[in-house]
Amino acid sequence: MIQTLHIVPEYNEELIYPAICKSMEALNIAADLRPEMKIVIKPNLVMAKSPDFPATTHPLVIKAVIRWLREQGMQHITIAESSGGLYNAEAMKHVYHVCGMDTLGEGAELNMDFSAQTVNCPAGFKNHSFHLITPIVEADYIINICKLKTHAMTGYSGGIKNLFGTIPGLEKPQMHYRWPEIEDFSNMLLELAQTVAPNLTVIDAIDAMEGNGPTGGTSHPLHMLLAAKDFYTQDCFAAKLMGLEPTEIVMLRQALEKGLARPKELALVGDPVPEGLSPFQKPDTIKLDFTNGVPKFLRKPFMFVASRLLKSYPQLTPEKCVGCGKCAESCPAHVIRIENRKAKFKRKGCISCFCCQEMCPMKAISVKKAL
Ligand code: SF4
Ligand code: SF4
Repeated sequence: MIQTLHIVPEYNEELIYPAICKSMEALNIAADLRPEMKIVIKPNLVMAKSPDFPATTHPLVIKAVIRWLREQGMQHITIAESSGGLYNAEAMKHVYHVCGMDTLGEGAELNMDFSAQTVNCPAGFKNHSFHLITPIVEADYIINICKLKTHAMTGYSGGIKNLFGTIPGLEKPQMHYRWPEIEDFSNMLLELAQTVAPNLTVIDAIDAMEGNGPTGGTSHPLHMLLAAKDFYTQDCFAAKLMGLEPTEIVMLRQALEKGLARPKELALVGDPVPEGLSPFQKPDTIKLDFTNGVPKFLRKPFMFVASRLLKSYPQLTPEKCVGCGKCAESCPAHVIRIENRKAKFKRKGCISCFCCQEMCPMKAISVKKAL
């Protein structure tokens, strides 16, 4: 499995483009492409945030990939994403604009088809089908371009987690409600990843996010672009670059156990891993996997008890709240209401998914630990 790593000191087109060209060559991507193919680029546009803030894929990384694709003769390139919140023309035009997608030039179209289709999953999956945005279902070749971040619920966000944005709009919070336990939610993410099966995953880690990701953290530049076809193994590699142990992140531990991630087969091409990388600050809410050494059949009840003892809840800073209602809109458990232009939370029924924290544009929601 070839993993590319290129050092890119800053968001500069003249530095990013050569790194993308070298990655594509090392992975022999041109051999997989034909000009008539429908290529879909799936960035991380979790919410309307400026590219200066490390929550979303930087437009210059996407632009460099589009430039390379056009030079290979690719004619049908679409950028498709379902951000948090509503999935419609008005909401997505705003996200595209704020995230800098309208600076990409004419080489690719921004998706404006907001339909979705049901895709059946293989027997043996707990999720027998997924409802996915249409461009993903109809794509011939999917390029997943994610942002490297720590994540309040899953601990880590890279290639696998980015694919959650192929589920339309407010169906995402419903998935949190359907699978409130981290074991089940992580398994769902892996089954989703196996269904979408992107052909190539690029990780934008020139600037990355630490702390309360995916939207409430802070900048932690790694000055790197990573690329691989095998995004499961790549995620384990990227987690290690952040100072996270893959076996402590449930999603990655499951990918290792299922044989999806195979770190021993990784062959690094490009620049070496720099020495002395500083570890990323973990989110306040991180649900680490404590089950190493616990027999497999006891892991789920063990995590169930541990997660209740260590459960965290959202807490409002009322002075920051502007009463916009984005938190209530995204709450799958419907335990938030807006009263007198302030959010009010009911603890009973809260599943600690932190969709509210993720969608709050004012950073008005923090984390309160039960213990
Ligand atoms: S907590 Fe945040 S998302 Fe919720 S109403 Fe207040 S400002 Fe809006
Ligand atoms: S209040 Fe926040 S953390 Fe609790 S269920 Fe609703 S969105 Fe999830």
